[in-house]
Amino acid sequence: MGRNTQTRFIKDPPNNFYFHPFKDDPSMIKLTLAEFEAMRLKHYLNLSQQSSASKMGVSQPTFSRILENAHKKMTQALIEGKKITIFGGNVDYKKSFMGYGCLNCNHEWEDETASKGKKGNCIKCNSDKIYYLVREPL
Ligand SMILES: [Zn+2]
Repeated sequence: MGRNTQTRFIKDPPNNFYFHPFKDDPSMIKLTLAEFEAMRLKHYLNLSQQSSASKMGVSQPTFSRILENAHKKMTQALIEGKKITIFGGNVDYKKSFMGYGCLNCNHEWEDETASKGKKGNCIKCNSDKIYYLVREPL
């Protein structure tokens, strides 16, 4: 209700990125591009939470939530010895990724006609809490 669609800027692709286009593998921990980027900014580049949030174009509470999700998934992967994949739909990393992500189920998908402020629903759970997601080419 009145919640703004949030833009998250993702600059660099994960080096070991791959995706599973058609079926979910329950033995894998899936990290979203946003979660990967949150960890990269905060823990790899050692940026402050404020700078990290602003680089991704989200509020600090949202950044905090994304990072918390990432930590939970990484912890689960370590403890249960699970593989980690980073997914973002059907993505060619040689060109920019444009699409949406869902705040409800964390699904991310590509949409070449995506734009900020455009309304829509999650293609997976039909939630209207979606955000515009852009990754610039290298
Ligand atoms: Zn969803």
